[in-house]
Amino acid sequence: MERYNIISEKNKREIVLLRGSGCVYKKCTFCDYYTDSCKNPQENYLLNQSVLEQVTGQYGNLEVINSGSVFELDEKTLDLIKSICHEKKISTIHFESHYLYRKKIPDLRKYFSEFDLKMKLGLETFDYDFRESVLHKGINEKNPSIIAEHFDEANFLFGITGQTVESMKQDIELGLENFERICLNIMCDNTTGVSPDKAVIDSFIKQLYPIYKNNERVDILINNTDFGVGD
Ligand code: SF4
Repeated sequence: MERYNIISEKNKREIVLLRGSGCVYKKCTFCDYYTDSCKNPQENYLLNQSVLEQVTGQYGNLEVINSGSVFELDEKTLDLIKSICHEKKISTIHFESHYLYRKKIPDLRKYFSEFDLKMKLGLETFDYDFRESVLHKGINEKNPSIIAEHFDEANFLFGITGQTVESMKQDIELGLENFERICLNIMCDNTTGVSPDKAVIDSFIKQLYPIYKNNERVDILINNTDFGVGD
């Protein structure tokens, strides 16, 4: 499994895929990547240390993901992220979190107060009924500005039956209004019961991709390994 890569287009940064104790939520119907986890914090730390040793600081910008939320990383790993970012003169750190941890984010920002922290939310869509009835995302809030309150960036998931060009465009536009940056993930085959819908994906590629592909605030992952980490 690749755990380190360099993103050299749009918002240049290094990215690491670390391992935590595991997603506490695990109910999203489309997700099976929370299996990259271990309940032993010391084993996680040793693995994470070997990944973080590869960070060079070349862009001063580091994205940390961990198949779940940053709050599932062990304390020693968080300390190490902090000291490596100091040492390598990294000023911006991106972390991901589920909405259920939002009240813990201010303390995390304090802990990393010398850095510009960018918190990324797995939102998937602003469409409340689709998000909660189909994707079971567990975000019991409809108001976009309340959803975005503790977050700077958001992930969206496109390419599922029921989505349309209009619904995806509305998500992108609302995403750009409410977050600094957004990441559009196209649904890929996995072990869950949710499958990619080829017609929806084709309509995204034909009608929306050309509009947003050069937008510096929009990352687009056609394959979920396009950031060069994962398997
Ligand atoms: S998408 Fe994120 S919050 Fe949902 S089950 Fe997967 S790891 Fe957990």
